[in-house]
Amino acid sequence: MHDIVVVGGGPGGYATAFRAAARGLDVALVEADKVGGTCLHRGCIPSKAILHVAEVIEQVERAEVMGLKVSFDGLDGDGLASFREGVITRMFKGLDFLVSKRTTRHDGRGRLVRGDDGRVEVEVTAADGTTTRVQGRHVVIATGSYAKSLPGVEVDGEVVQTSDQALWFTEAPGRAVVIGAGAIGMEFASMWQPMGTEVTVVEALDRVLPLEDADCSVAVTKAYRQRGVEVLTSARVSSIERDGGAGRVVVEVDGETRTLEADRILVATGRGPNTADIGADDLGILDERGHVVTDEWGATAVDGVWAVGDVRPTLALAHAAFAEGFVVADRIAIASGKGRDELAAHLQPVDHANTPRVTYCHPEVASVGLTEAQARERYGDAIATETSSLRHNAKGILAGTEGFVKVVYRTDGTPAGAPGPEGAVVGVHVVGPHATDLIAEATLVTTWEALPSELAAITHAHPSLYEAMGEAFQSAAGLPFHGA
Ligand code: NAD
Repeated sequence: MHDIVVVGGGPGGYATAFRAAARGLDVALVEADKVGGTCLHRGCIPSKAILHVAEVIEQVERAEVMGLKVSFDGLDGDGLASFREGVITRMFKGLDFLVSKRTTRHDGRGRLVRGDDGRVEVEVTAADGTTTRVQGRHVVIATGSYAKSLPGVEVDGEVVQTSDQALWFTEAPGRAVVIGAGAIGMEFASMWQPMGTEVTVVEALDRVLPLEDADCSVAVTKAYRQRGVEVLTSARVSSIERDGGAGRVVVEVDGETRTLEADRILVATGRGPNTADIGADDLGILDERGHVVTDEWGATAVDGVWAVGDVRPTLALAHAAFAEGFVVADRIAIASGKGRDELAAHLQPVDHANTPRVTYCHPEVASVGLTEAQARERYGDAIATETSSLRHNAKGILAGTEGFVKVVYRTDGTPAGAPGPEGAVVGVHVVGPHATDLIAEATLVTTWEALPSELAAITHAHPSLYEAMGEAFQSAAGLPFHGA
């Protein structure tokens, strides 16, 4: 019997498996497809490869400003495919090797079933239909998520696509309608527009990236419109039809009915958990939306059954899945007598509130902690903000895009003992070049509930993009770099 059987080899599954193996546990990993999951094969990695290409095109188009004589003469579809697939292959080979080295592999689809002794086991059905039972003292569900469609909309995979199909283009579509302005929709708009696609983004709520701070939504909308992307918000899709090799989206917006013709229609309206056929329902551990219900440590109500990643109703982000996997593996190690005492003493549940959120659209958006609206809801008027623009930042000027760092902080003197009237920074929001890297510093700040006065004393390099964050902290401490 294994110590742990992990079902699913995406970021949540392999993070659990690797951490558990590193702690000396015997780990089995069940995977129906290739290890790497959505992130490596259909998500984060291929999309970032194409976004990188799109960014290079934008740089080429700006090259004249830098005195360079180069031009973008179009896409070489084979070259694009080989770059995109090459990045996946390289990462896959490394991961596949590590999985073989550190775990016992079972290729097939796993399903949780009760064994004769009442213990939960994993029944693995291989591609040829044969089944085997894999037993472990603990079972970890890490089966990930799938791209949802809209009710009544048929995803044909050619004209009407989800991100699963849309990533594999070798020729950018002439006209694209992107439905949903979350991370996926906004990233696809940023991939296609520089490649010459006429893009329309259709969002049901009143702003793009509705989970981000409202100022970020305003800035990104402005940047998209300046580039010629049409952004329709508070828009209701009334029908999607396919017409030969093209399609039509009928949208109600601003009291009018608009018909949008498109060669590609991307449905990016969210993802759902892959729990329909894994035996979790029979165990009574699913909520009404199909997510696996766990405590803060990732344990379900069934003894020895845990869950990590997109199957849980937490942030559907690869790094959140990694973090959940580490915690579950550490808890199991401790329960199995493999954890060191100090590990047991310091282990904490994943801090989802201080997990960075990163959207690789152009300009990039990244945030951690509370938005201004959430902070005001929680702390009332005892909230203030400072924003430092990248417009006057040397590296921002070089990059040729605008953006800002916005800091949200408390003014009510908490946490206890904080000097003067100031309180901890509770949220940081960044729009602009490398925002997804710049958020690193802010993650420490909100996690450690740092005070602006402490942060103002930290020297930031010049010239750098992150000096804008230092300036925002200084302003929050009442020490602005220069007057208003
Ligand atoms: P999402 O839930 O983040 O966004 C979907 C958007 O579609 C929402 O803004 C919603 O209001 C809108 N919408 C829903 N129904 C609609 C309709 N009928 N018409 C118009 N708009 C409609 O989902 P997503 O963008 O598909 O991403 C799925 C998950 O994957 C998210 O949890 C996301 O965070 C994650 N993801 C993260 C990254 C990243 O971190 N860079 C990248 C891709 C995906």
